[in-house]
Amino acid sequence: MTEHIQTLLAGRWRDASGPSYTTEYPHDGSVVAQLHAATVADVDEAVQAAEKARLQPAWAKRMPHERASVLHRIAQGIREQAESLAQLQRLDNGKPIKECRALVASAAGTFQFFAAAAETWEDAVTPARGDFLTLSVHEPLGVVGAITPWNSPIASEAQKMAPALAAGCAIVIKPAEITPRMAVELARIAQQSGVPDGIVSVLPGKGSVVGDALVRHPLVKRIAFTGGTNVGMGIQRLAADKLMPTSLELGGKSPTIVCADADLDHAVAGVIYGIFSSSGESCIAGSRAFVHASVYEAFKSRLLAAVKGLRVADPALETTHMGPLVNRGHRDSVERYVQLGRDEGGRVLCGGARPQGGYYDQGSYYQPTVIEGLPNTARMCREEIFGPVLALLPWSDEADLISQCNDNDYGLASGIWTRDYKAAWRIGRALQTGTVWVNTYKLFSVSTPFGGVKLSGTGREKGRQGILEYTTQKSFYWGMNDAPMPWALS
Ligand code: NAD
Repeated sequence: MTEHIQTLLAGRWRDASGPSYTTEYPHDGSVVAQLHAATVADVDEAVQAAEKARLQPAWAKRMPHERASVLHRIAQGIREQAESLAQLQRLDNGKPIKECRALVASAAGTFQFFAAAAETWEDAVTPARGDFLTLSVHEPLGVVGAITPWNSPIASEAQKMAPALAAGCAIVIKPAEITPRMAVELARIAQQSGVPDGIVSVLPGKGSVVGDALVRHPLVKRIAFTGGTNVGMGIQRLAADKLMPTSLELGGKSPTIVCADADLDHAVAGVIYGIFSSSGESCIAGSRAFVHASVYEAFKSRLLAAVKGLRVADPALETTHMGPLVNRGHRDSVERYVQLGRDEGGRVLCGGARPQGGYYDQGSYYQPTVIEGLPNTARMCREEIFGPVLALLPWSDEADLISQCNDNDYGLASGIWTRDYKAAWRIGRALQTGTVWVNTYKLFSVSTPFGGVKLSGTGREKGRQGILEYTTQKSFYWGMNDAPMPWALS
């Protein structure tokens, strides 16, 4: 059944003013939602309304603990609607229902965390260097824009909306064109939780139109972007013209390292989860597995046995490991990469094709795929595929291993599997990535900052400091005596 979706734009539930379009359920290609894209004029209306609303006493005069109460209510609202939100996210991007539930729970946790941050944040009395008092206080940046991708919408949006509201900003969210529903639902919950009209708007539509206009708008004082590296670079260029801060959470080609002494079963389970969960449509997917030569064959045979056991199936089933890819166009791109890997001399050890028959033929499914025999310099090992494709690479010398891991444009995440904590520390410190997992992978905590280095991005989300990204600092000097100023008239 196709549902008509309206959006919250400048405080009103309505259709955006642009052309109508539909979204599809990746499992079977059925049309599930119909909505209107926003226009450049809608962007202006939403931003103007946000600027007006943020300056009204109803938001501007709310004390941090009062904003914290609002965030707690949003967290509660998400929890009360957790199952329906998870089901909507499944329809939006085809993620298995269990993963959707985990993302919804993490979104609620994000609002709870930033509520605590808002309420407990302390401005500073800085050490005075004379007979005066110096204070550093934080103030909201103003209207901020959030631009998000399709792979984990509710989590990406919560990570921007929660600190923005905690800091006292207003936010205009531009979700991915094909996955608009989580942002719309978060806006609904925010409104029901007491966020004043105009403070949150959601603008569905194309990045090149809506996203671009949001970035360029003079009243938008910050862009929090999650998405591809090329788009992120374009946003950074435009931001330079306004001297506007951005956070850019971009792509990855993350290495996972299996050392000779690793617990192989644990490592196999971690490597397959790291690459094949979310069908590999994850910025932190561990897509290059470097396995010590002495355990390479043993690891490979256990890995292939484990991959055979993965259930590629309907995302509505509780037992599904891997659902479909987000759409056919993206599956075609993954297929082209696997073909490229073959052309570059790689051997496909498993997968390398679409599953056949039944609903597989309607949806955009692809098998979990493992390839060996490629050098780290092959394009398939250098470029982000954003799909269920793992390259296996043997290693034997630690210095060479580190230089291969780092010989990549990206630097988002990495994993190390070893029983030797000193080796884990040594290797982990040498890896050029924003996150290092040791004997685990894809664990996340909202209290720990997240972000990349190199072409994986700049800025950090999450962590207590995450709230600061939405503030500006103001310094106060209070004279404490009546001593005449140097140029005072005598
Ligand atoms: P994308 O860059 O194509 O789109 C992301 C968002 O940017 C969408 O909302 C899109 O409409 C918008 N956009 C596109 N062109 C724009 C423009 N010119 N101006 C402003 N906005 C524009 O990415 P995607 O295909 O939706 O998502 C996949 C990418 O996201 C992958 O590269 C993945 O690694 C990355 N990602 C990164 C993280 C992270 O935290 N580092 C997390 C998830 C996804």
